[in-house]
Amino acid sequence: MPELPEVETVRRGLEKKILHATLRGVTLRRPDLRFPIPPALGNLQNTRLNALRRRAKYLLMDFDNGQTVLVHLGMSGRLVFADAATPPAKHDHVLFHFDGEDVRFNDARRFGVADMYPTVQEHTVPALAALGPEPLTDAFDGKYLLTSLKGKKSAIKTAIMDNTVVVGVGNIYASESLFRAGILPARAAGKLTRAQTDKLAGCIKDVLTEAIAAGGSSLKDYVQTDGSLGYFAHRFRVYGRDGQLCTVCGTSIRKVIIGQRSTFFCPVCQK
Ligand SMILES: [Zn+2]
Repeated sequence: MPELPEVETVRRGLEKKILHATLRGVTLRRPDLRFPIPPALGNLQNTRLNALRRRAKYLLMDFDNGQTVLVHLGMSGRLVFADAATPPAKHDHVLFHFDGEDVRFNDARRFGVADMYPTVQEHTVPALAALGPEPLTDAFDGKYLLTSLKGKKSAIKTAIMDNTVVVGVGNIYASESLFRAGILPARAAGKLTRAQTDKLAGCIKDVLTEAIAAGGSSLKDYVQTDGSLGYFAHRFRVYGRDGQLCTVCGTSIRKVIIGQRSTFFCPVCQK
C-alpha cells in the first residue's frame, strides 16, 4: 500500500508535469471505486489546474473553476501518464484528459477513491475533517504528541498510526520511527515522557523526510506508484528484518503482531 512518502512522490511527479495545465475533460469508465464517483466529476472540463496538494494520503487537485478533485490510491491505485491516443489499459477507471496528455487512475483492487467538492467547502469533507496534523509541519512536535497521547492505553505503535493523532505514519514507518527513538512498539502510549515524545516526533520526521528524498531522487519523467518501496526498502533497519541482526547491537530483530499489523523491533535497543 502506498504510504505518505510514496504519495508525496506521486504529488511531486504530477506537479512537475501538469501544474497549470488545462483539463479538457474527464472520462469515468465505471461509476464507483471504493465509493461511488460523483457523476459531476465526469463533466469537469476546460479548467486549469491551479494547485496540487497532499493531505495525509489524499491527493487534492484544485481547479480554477472552484472545484477540488480528491484522489486516494487505496491499496493498489496508480496515477499513470499516457498519450491521449493510447487506448486505456485494463483497470484504468478514471481518465483525466489534460492538454496533450492523460493522467489515468488505474486501480486493480478498487480500494481507491475519486471524489470532488467545492474547494471552499473543504473543511466539511468528512474524510479530511477529522485528520490530525501533518507530520512534517511545525504543528507536529513532542509537546503536541505528549498531549494527544495523554491517557491512551493503546500501544504507542497503534497510536502513532491513528490518523487523528498524526496523519501518514503507516505500518512500515511506525516500526522504523520507534526503532530510531528507542521505544518498544507495545509500550502504553500514555506512559511516554516528554523526552520520549520529543525524540519520537523527531524520528518520525526524519524517517519520512529520508523516504521522500529517496523517492524524489529516483523520480524521473513519469509518475506512478505500484505500492512497492524499492527505493527506500534497503534503508529499513527493522521492518521486514525479523531474524536478521540489529545494525546497532547485533541482537536478532523480532516480529510481533500489534493491532493486527506486523511489527518489527530490537528487544535490546528499544525500551
Ligand atoms: Zn539493537
